[in-house]
Amino acid sequence: MSLIVFGSIAFDHIITPQADSGKIVGGAAFYAAIAAANFVDDIKLLAVIGNDFPQAELDFLTSRHIAYDGVQKVTDKPSFFWKGSYHKDMNNRDSLDTQLNALLDFKATVPDNYQDCTYLLLGNLDPALQLKVIEQLATRPKLIALDTMNFWMEIALDNLKKVLQKIDLLIINESEAKELSGENNLTKAAKKIRAMGPVYLIIKKGEHGALLFYEDKIFATSALVIENIFDPTGAGDTFAGALMGYIAQHQSHDFETLKAAMVAGSAVASFCTEKFGATRLKEIDRTHINQRIQELKQLTAYTI
Ligand code: AMP
Repeated sequence: MSLIVFGSIAFDHIITPQADSGKIVGGAAFYAAIAAANFVDDIKLLAVIGNDFPQAELDFLTSRHIAYDGVQKVTDKPSFFWKGSYHKDMNNRDSLDTQLNALLDFKATVPDNYQDCTYLLLGNLDPALQLKVIEQLATRPKLIALDTMNFWMEIALDNLKKVLQKIDLLIINESEAKELSGENNLTKAAKKIRAMGPVYLIIKKGEHGALLFYEDKIFATSALVIENIFDPTGAGDTFAGALMGYIAQHQSHDFETLKAAMVAGSAVASFCTEKFGATRLKEIDRTHINQRIQELKQLTAYTI
């Protein structure tokens, strides 16, 4: 089952209260693809890089069966660059620098050999580009998931609403859900957002886990309780990537599968926070992930 992962590939510079990463590889699609590769072999990356992106990182993707035919290389510009600094609580951060570079004229062209895709994850980028990707696919994927952020709600709401009508699953965080719906209560927010298009809605609540809304049902997952979060960058993208990888592996997207996929997503995302960037994600395999899934099960299991 093939999964297209669309989004940014970047150089990041992350500053936390404890450490400074210097320039490292990141981007939403980079995290999501590596996370998804723990579950399925056939992953197709759709993104853009500049003239400075290391071949060794592309070789790493190949080693994880992640195809990058759809990663356009811009020869006269560097890769997208983002610099962020975390507050003491590690929940909030300031963007210190965003240089679009190669992303500036990105056309998001879907290659012919991506047309057989069964699942599609649209990472956080301009909704106009997300729409363009959907429109280029001759056959509609079985499930289209989308991640977005406040920024697009503020500057591209019309296009965001258009793309919401074409997707099945929206994955956003709590503040984004409140902003998009204009509701403070998450159940009311979910109703309004689901009325905009997606049948499934996942609201991420950071260290407090995530909620899944479908019809009149709600499911809650916990995040693992971690003593030291080293770097939360990319944890949301990792969650989404692992979740879609799990769905693609099981070739199903019913409510029960989505519940399990959220647990798998939470487990993989917890690894992401342990080291800078995707460093820890590159070290783990299914044995590590299965162990964390068991820990998550124990965290929330009880007899009554
Ligand atoms: P997250 O921690 O889930 O917000 O994702 C972090 C990743 O998003 C970083 O690796 C950045 O390169 C990437 N990123 C930051 N700002 C943007 C943006 N405006 N557009 C696309 N990707 C971005």
